[in-house]
Amino acid sequence: MTDTPTQLFIGGAWVDAVDGATLPVDDPATGEIIAHVADAGPKDARLAEDAAVQAQQEWARTAPRARSEILRRAHEIILERTDELAHLMTAEMGKPLAEARGEVAYAAEFFRWFSEEAVRIEGGAGILPDGRNRMVLSRRPVGPCLLITPWNFPLAMGTRKIGPAIAAGCTMILKPAPQTPLSSLALAGILKEAGLPDGVLNVVTTSRAGEVVEPLLRGGRIRKLSFTGSTAVGRLLLAQCADAVVRTSMELGGNAPFVVFEDADLDKAVDGAMVAKMRNMGEACTAANRFFVHRSVAEEFGRRLAERMGSLVVGPGTRDGVDVGPLIDANGRAKVEELVADAVQRGAEVLVGGRTPQGPGCFYPPTVLADVDPESRLMDTEIFGPVAAILTFDDEDEVVRRANDTPWGLVGYLFTEGLDRALRVSERLEVGMVGLNTGLVSNPAAPFGGVKQSGLGREGGRVGIDEFLEYQYLAVPVS
Ligand code: NAP
Repeated sequence: MTDTPTQLFIGGAWVDAVDGATLPVDDPATGEIIAHVADAGPKDARLAEDAAVQAQQEWARTAPRARSEILRRAHEIILERTDELAHLMTAEMGKPLAEARGEVAYAAEFFRWFSEEAVRIEGGAGILPDGRNRMVLSRRPVGPCLLITPWNFPLAMGTRKIGPAIAAGCTMILKPAPQTPLSSLALAGILKEAGLPDGVLNVVTTSRAGEVVEPLLRGGRIRKLSFTGSTAVGRLLLAQCADAVVRTSMELGGNAPFVVFEDADLDKAVDGAMVAKMRNMGEACTAANRFFVHRSVAEEFGRRLAERMGSLVVGPGTRDGVDVGPLIDANGRAKVEELVADAVQRGAEVLVGGRTPQGPGCFYPPTVLADVDPESRLMDTEIFGPVAAILTFDDEDEVVRRANDTPWGLVGYLFTEGLDRALRVSERLEVGMVGLNTGLVSNPAAPFGGVKQSGLGREGGRVGIDEFLEYQYLAVPVS
């Protein structure tokens, strides 16, 4: 970790912030400061923007195969350094090492996927219906991009944006979350090593996101914002994008329903719940937030889930055998505590967990709440922690209505052995993704994204690169 860069990455060089400012990065398992990284201000952002704008035209002209090869090499380097990157991520973010290794593989796969897509950018040509004109359609990179990522998947949220931007021929500025800047800086080092030309990727770490980002979005030179984060911040940034009519991709918050029907295989449902709830300690936009369980199986499901959740080992992510690391920071944990207290005060029964442990670190135990009142605050708030809230339902129409009764629509999980029901309910759910008898939907080859206030656009899959491309139509008379 001693070799991890801590400066800004601008125009292919490592530089300090113009005013010399730095920001501390701490380990949420101990509260100890593990590094200081450069803390960019608006002047640094301007330099990064200059570098991205200057590099754009030449980068757009590179052969797709050249862009593809850079991504492919970076994919390989990431995999070779799995252990090093996993330790870095665990240190700055808290997730257990095994999960961090899983994220490294997931993150690397976006580069492999988009290295394959870089050489499949196709336009089209044809005679228009009037027979007098031809149409030649080509696809162009949208231009310099601003990529903003959250702290919960420090490496994968970066590669999910950088991969398609490089493949499409865009230059970019990446602004990672201030809690987890080290993974992004390490990634920049890897891309440089893989041969990425100077200025194509610039990384600006900052504790002053508002001051740094707003001038970029309003300035007219950044042509695209790809944002992953909360709906509240996404809404604010959409408004800032309006002035210069900046194209946007928004991956925002979720409030996933997890529906267990009376004909579900409960083994599958409990396994699925463990993944959908506990991946990343519950700090995932895809985390199951509301468990709707048919009244006839609710007690057994709750008992079995509580048994599994209660057997998880909580501790520092670097320790062998640990399943659940700390939450990101004191604020994140305080929010979880408040949501649980509110639910309990409204009559929820705590089947397991629910008590904050003593000692250092932002730990919170895996918790299962049964008989949750639908008016509880955690029903319309992302819990972002290891808390499963169970409610009961009686029939299909009722559960579809309740599942859809939220402004969000990222993902839903269904557990049923009936094919008709599975298809019917999937079609009725207002979400961008459905896990049927599985608690995991994320895959670089599949389009990830939500409807309603969970976002705009898709990342990954065949369509992921489209977010970074424009069409140009050339009209040519038939002579
Ligand atoms: P957040 O507070 O919205 O922050 C996300 C990013 O936006 C951070 O880099 C943050 O930097 C930056 N930011 C905040 N205010 C800003 C402003 N005024 N101008 C410019 N940038 C600003 O979200 P978070 O707490 O880091 O992440 C958790 C959220 O992300 C959850 O809602 C989760 O569901 C969502 N998420 C969604 C997906 C998806 O694919 N749909 C994936 C992962 C996470 P600062 O912290 O410095 O403000």
